[in-house]
Amino acid sequence: MLDQEIKIIIDHKRCIGARCLACVDSCPREVLDWDKEQKKVVVVNFQECLVCFACEEACREDGNNCYKIEGAIRKEFQPAPRTDMWGGAREVVPPISV
Ligand code: SF4
Ligand code: SF4
Repeated sequence: MLDQEIKIIIDHKRCIGARCLACVDSCPREVLDWDKEQKKVVVVNFQECLVCFACEEACREDGNNCYKIEGAIRKEFQPAPRTDMWGGAREVVPPISV
């Protein structure tokens, strides 16, 4: 499900680990886990990632901001694909405000 160009990057020097785990708890697909031996957050299920950014937002909201997803565009900023009646691409026209 995940584009191979996409990377989950955690700055482990700044991560407060087991005292937080907001990123792990926010993930709906159990992509992340706390590794007790390594004492760090690890990616265990990369292919299940939905690129929903819940993990990155959780880290930022908690004020730590040491977690980021690289190579992905937030879904809300991606224009919906539009096609004409023959299935061809069509120019996206912004809405006119009145
Ligand atoms: S982007 Fe979503 S699915 Fe992927 S690791 Fe983060 S919370 Fe989980
Ligand atoms: S949310 Fe950020 S600070 Fe908290 S465990 Fe995850 S990466 Fe570390």
